[in-house]
Amino acid sequence: MKAMVLNELCSLEEHETPLKLTELPDPVPGENQILVKVCACGVCHTELDEIEGRTPPPSLPVVLGHQVVGRVEEAGSKVRGSQIGERVGIAWIYSSCGECKFCLGGNENLCADFKATGRDVNGGYAEYMTVREDFAYRIPAIFSDVEAAPLLCAGAIGYRSLRLADLEDGQNLGLTGFGASGHLVLMMARHRYPNSKVFVFARSANQRAFALELGAVWAGDTEEEPPEKLAGIIDTTPAWKPVVEALKNLESGGRLVINAIRKEGADREYLLRLDYPVHLWMEKEIKSVANVSRRDVQEFLELASEIPIRPEVQEFVLEQANEALVELKTRKVRGAKVLRVV
Ligand SMILES: [Zn+2]
Ligand SMILES: [Zn+2]
Repeated sequence: MKAMVLNELCSLEEHETPLKLTELPDPVPGENQILVKVCACGVCHTELDEIEGRTPPPSLPVVLGHQVVGRVEEAGSKVRGSQIGERVGIAWIYSSCGECKFCLGGNENLCADFKATGRDVNGGYAEYMTVREDFAYRIPAIFSDVEAAPLLCAGAIGYRSLRLADLEDGQNLGLTGFGASGHLVLMMARHRYPNSKVFVFARSANQRAFALELGAVWAGDTEEEPPEKLAGIIDTTPAWKPVVEALKNLESGGRLVINAIRKEGADREYLLRLDYPVHLWMEKEIKSVANVSRRDVQEFLELASEIPIRPEVQEFVLEQANEALVELKTRKVRGAKVLRVV
């Protein structure tokens, strides 16, 4: 099969073609696995982190890609629930041990044996991949292959952060940062909590205008104080200032959910402004989001089809994966980038 393969880590600024088109043997499904013929694979910021070594794959070479939509081509001997030809999606969570307390409690995203698609095992920048059938998802019919692919990452993780915010309908929600993930969370929140007011904090005036367009009742800059206190706030920024500023806007007992794999160090000093009575006292909570569970992906796909959320998509062919990655790193084009494989 054709695959775009990462052989060594590098900086994309110095190396604009980190992935090499390579002929690999077709993968063979294990007894609980399905062989998926890939139709489309989304291009995610996490791939930049893998290539540049911020989330390095444990071994190389590896095929990247964790927003995979394809069709079941073959099934292992113990596969019971999947039909040949059926359309499925594969997300960041590739597998987990199935036996630890996290797995048994539905939080397999926290399993010590968590494996990530396209980092710990080969992913979807290829014509085929294999996955356990119980880690593949039905894709609602309203989405085309390329529309469904980008929903499998930012959307599912956004959904998890909204779940962790533990909101009740009518309670105020805040969003700090309003990029790809933030705007999906706003759409989900408006649907799931129709009586809740959403307040958005974003540095760019364009993002604030977009937030109001999508139904936020208020949009301001990071340091601005909203007219009401907030029961939950979801932070999707790479910085610390929004965290400190958000904490002061939480009501008593409120929860801040940090939806970021890592925070950059540039403004870490801002944390010294943390003032216990203002930012933390009165039982305020901080919770981070790590990976996704299968429930998040499944429930999000259903919710996305109900709302419906239709992502804006920019298509590339598989061989243009490097181009898509460089564009993702250097240019702020609206819309999710997706590789069309067949
Ligand atoms: Zn991703
Ligand atoms: Zn486990």
